[in-house]
Amino acid sequence: MLGIHLYNTLTRKKEEFKPINEGFVGIYCCGPTVYDYAHIGNMRTFIFEDILRRVFLYNGYKVKHVMNITDVGHLVSDADEGEDKLMKALRREGKKPTVKAMMELAERYTNAFFDHSKKLNMMKPDVIPKATEHVQDMVDLTKRIEENGYTYKTSVGLIYNTAKFKNYTKLGRLKLKAQRAGARAKVDEERRNPSDFALWITNQPKHVMQWDSPWGRGFPGWHIECSAMSMKYLGEQFDIHCGGIDHIAVHHTNEIAQSEGATGKKWVNCWLHGEFLVLKKDKMSKSKGTFVKTSDIVERGFDPLAYRYLCLTAHYRSKLVFSWENMEKAQQSYNSLKNRVSLARDEKGKSNEGLRKRFEKEFLDGINNDMNMPRALAVLWGALKSELSGPEKIELVERFDSVLGLNLLKEEKLPKGAAELIEKREDARKRQDWDKADKLREKLKEIGVVVEDTPKGTKWKKTG
Ligand SMILES: [Zn+2]
Repeated sequence: MLGIHLYNTLTRKKEEFKPINEGFVGIYCCGPTVYDYAHIGNMRTFIFEDILRRVFLYNGYKVKHVMNITDVGHLVSDADEGEDKLMKALRREGKKPTVKAMMELAERYTNAFFDHSKKLNMMKPDVIPKATEHVQDMVDLTKRIEENGYTYKTSVGLIYNTAKFKNYTKLGRLKLKAQRAGARAKVDEERRNPSDFALWITNQPKHVMQWDSPWGRGFPGWHIECSAMSMKYLGEQFDIHCGGIDHIAVHHTNEIAQSEGATGKKWVNCWLHGEFLVLKKDKMSKSKGTFVKTSDIVERGFDPLAYRYLCLTAHYRSKLVFSWENMEKAQQSYNSLKNRVSLARDEKGKSNEGLRKRFEKEFLDGINNDMNMPRALAVLWGALKSELSGPEKIELVERFDSVLGLNLLKEEKLPKGAAELIEKREDARKRQDWDKADKLREKLKEIGVVVEDTPKGTKWKKTG
């Protein structure tokens, strides 16, 4: 397969990616709302976006990756109800609602987010705009939407009239009549359509962060933030917009209505959405109190990259079930993979260019086929188990890991012969040949390697 193919939510089809500017891709990802730690379900989405960026780099593209930080305006309900999530968080932490406290809270959770992202080996986006630093851009964009006749005022603020935007239901394939009786029916009575939403929110005297605007003192809605910041850094038309599938029906639908309402032209060519991480039958969610953070994974003794490995075992458009048992399996596989890589370092063997090229092609076919990472992982395993020479294997690991991001070559180098002994010992353990396993443990000790069997697989350490 030639070229990158991606499943576009807008057309519900897998399409060959065609950049607006040759050799360049602009990617916008909805970033975290920094009122709490991100849970690993959120992180799964960011990992898929990180992989997307790496796939483009692998294909020789120049990438501009923009991810915003929402530090104001994201209300408790996505449909403009309730209070600002950051205001609620201040109360949760028993802090007085002041501008200083709000900024301190946002900074703390922003730092935690990037600390977790780093643990998961995500590349930092090229541009990370904060909502509070782009309010003027949001006001300017809202003015254009107003000039084009898409708005009306209520006591809540300036509202977007969704009935005026003819493609409103396109991205989500929404049936608005059905929705009226559903989740979004509880809107204030001044609203003309249940799907209408606020661009600018006024009359909330308790809200700490407020700015002057043509519509009165207030603050921007969450949706306008992404429209304004993405266009500021990627232009009025750009290639790819990503997020979790929970953003399709409201947030991304509203972003399109705003952006295209302002410019009158098509905004984003390709929309990509990552599926949920699920806990048995539930979606991982903060409101249900069922969330696990990256730091929880670390505290339980797992390598955060084993979680990244777990994410790579499922396609980004499939649900992935999280359990500690699955986490243990992922850790074991990740350990074995790293051990295989160590083993390859000591291997000689004859080079086989034809075979190496075949693995390279299969890997590229996998990642370019709508980011089929389970396939890509299988190709890597296949290459490591193949007859390729050690140096060829390491060369492939280096190339493939630029997409996988599993730090497979970063591991401390084992003494000569140790990886082979570890693998033999693993085999013996699998056959429940404990005598042999113990003998191999002694041999490893002699060459300065201590192995330890844990529920998360065999770990090793150099003694000297
Ligand atoms: Zn967004």
